[in-house]
Amino acid sequence: MIEDGVLVVGAGIAGAAVALELVERGRPVLVLEARHDRGAPPERVATGASAGMLAPQYEISDDEALIRLAVASRERHPAFVRHVEQLAGVELGLRMRGMLVAAFSGEERRRLEADAAGHRDLGLSAEVVGPEDALRLQPGLSPEAAAWLWLPDEGRLDTQRLAAALPAALEASGAEVRYGARVIRILERGGAVWGVELEGGDVVRARRLVLAAGAWSGRVDGLPRALPVRPVRGQMLRYAPSAAPVLSRLVARRDGVYMVPRIDGTVLAGSTMEETGFDASVTPAGEARIRSGAASLVPAAAGLEPVERWAGLRPLSADGAPILGPDPALEGLYYATGYGRNGILLGPAAGAILAAQLAGGDAGPDWRTFSVARFDRA
Ligand SMILES: Cc1cc2nc3c(=O)[nH]c(=O)nc-3n(C[C@H](O)[C@H](O)[C@H](O)COP(=O)(O)OP(=O)(O)OC[C@H]3O[C@@H](n4cnc5c(N)ncnc54)[C@H](O)[C@@H]3O)c2cc1C
Repeated sequence: MIEDGVLVVGAGIAGAAVALELVERGRPVLVLEARHDRGAPPERVATGASAGMLAPQYEISDDEALIRLAVASRERHPAFVRHVEQLAGVELGLRMRGMLVAAFSGEERRRLEADAAGHRDLGLSAEVVGPEDALRLQPGLSPEAAAWLWLPDEGRLDTQRLAAALPAALEASGAEVRYGARVIRILERGGAVWGVELEGGDVVRARRLVLAAGAWSGRVDGLPRALPVRPVRGQMLRYAPSAAPVLSRLVARRDGVYMVPRIDGTVLAGSTMEETGFDASVTPAGEARIRSGAASLVPAAAGLEPVERWAGLRPLSADGAPILGPDPALEGLYYATGYGRNGILLGPAAGAILAAQLAGGDAGPDWRTFSVARFDRA
């Protein structure tokens, strides 16, 4: 029973960010996590599988409310990362060194110029540069690109380290975390949450519950609606330090293939967007697409053998934006899910919104745009 506290379902970035914020505000928190121990492999679970880009300007082009939330979250990341690093005693490899996005045709260049103009209208830094300027920013880039969009404020962190650090940080913060605790049903009485049932039959009582179960969020019974969140598979490759092209910036194509340097000298290349249900396998076709995209960005990547391959399941909502805040159809039920391609980025700002709502503070006006109620109107 956690009567005056909050039950958080899921210990990925979404649940952990809410839980850490709630603890900061002095609220008791119990996190229920389906994985059996905190050392369980990060594959499938999105947080550990992700590329760790903090790149709202690359990722989001036509949704102003979402880009504003995402940029606010990018600004929160240094403090969030410092907090997790201090609690867990691990460096997370945060670097805000910018991103270059390639244009291989006149049409792509025009689109990058339109993107840059849109970003500048929002007060963000963005500039289209020629190949020589791009090479000065990042040696090794392909001479085939006609132009590059330079986004100096984008960044990245090491998500394998983050995934390992979050459970330790939660425990050090004073939150209680229970592993092997898969929530199968939300229990409701008189239109309000009173607890959850776990696989195996145990019941945990709580009047306030945050559903942050990633791609699995819609699979919990007892929700007052069919939650529009589905898994979208993403595959990743990792190159060893000695073999990897030496990058200091993020580099990307407009079609979603990108390369991410890490502080240990490894380089990641990703990714795919695949509607394969809960199947988190890697495939030769996925790898081939990523490898050819990476080689088109950085020719030295051609022919390099990855040392590791994995896939994860992004929790994508029906309209691609996160689902945040209370469900008007069931008192005590809150969502922190549907973060899609940008969950690492969105974690801190979304966590602060949820914690403010649950702890009675000012959540600001933004969250209403992301309320689950938008799907009733649609
Ligand atoms: C290949 C790939 C690349 C990506 N790259 C980026 C990127 O560069 N930048 C970025 O910002 N985002 C990126 N993302 C997206 C990001 O990883 C996700 O949006 C984010 O991790 C989602 O976090 P989450 O906590 O909602 O879900 P998860 O990390 O999946 O966590 C959900 C947790 O809930 C637990 N759980 C599930 N069901 C239950 C249950 N019934 N009871 C209890 N616990 C349960 C799971 O075990 C899991 O630990 C990428 C994702 C992938 C797959």
